[in-house]
Amino acid sequence: MSGLTPLDFPEAREALVDAGRRLAQRGLVTGTSGNLSVRVGDRIVATPSGAPLDSLELGRLSVIDLDGTHLSGAVPTSEVPLHLAVYRSTDAGAIAHTHAAVSTAVSCTCDEMPALHYNVLQLGGAPRTARYATFGSPELGERVVEALRDGRQAALMQNHGSVAVGADLAQACDRLELLEWLCELHVEAHRLGSPRVLSDAELADAAHAFENYRKRLRPAR
Ligand SMILES: [Zn+2]
Repeated sequence: MSGLTPLDFPEAREALVDAGRRLAQRGLVTGTSGNLSVRVGDRIVATPSGAPLDSLELGRLSVIDLDGTHLSGAVPTSEVPLHLAVYRSTDAGAIAHTHAAVSTAVSCTCDEMPALHYNVLQLGGAPRTARYATFGSPELGERVVEALRDGRQAALMQNHGSVAVGADLAQACDRLELLEWLCELHVEAHRLGSPRVLSDAELADAAHAFENYRKRLRPAR
């Protein structure tokens, strides 16, 4: 006997460690910035305060409940209020937040990104920017929830960073990476001039095409 108690929520823990490494490898993480969480029923497994996302430790991950009570592991991220606010008001199964450089730059200049590419549809529409509030504050959580209204799956956080939700952490990370790509596109297009923006009708056509594409991928019954 090793004397060690098996860790609870093993799949959520593995997903957090993998996601932290992945986001760091893709260049979306600097130092100890950013935090991630996974919801498992009425429990949330979250990254600890001050932990570098590229080297998370399974046994140090924090478990809290939906009231924010710390149940086990290291002290959770200072952004617990943000994660709780999003879980309380959406059906998200996971949340990813980082200070990805280009997303953070665009967050300083833009209230709602113009739709330069139909891929905004994969984020539920053109991402909005949550108004600035101090990190870790309940106000920041409220403003992120406001920016995610009407089914948005990702948002910028003014002068701070970006955040994405998903059914699981892999999907939240996919969306966070897509948002960073859209921000790179935004910067590059504005550097070249005044970019053309997709109209509502063009976006509606693209949404229709996505729906047809998904239907073709579904196996026939
Ligand atoms: Zn942050």
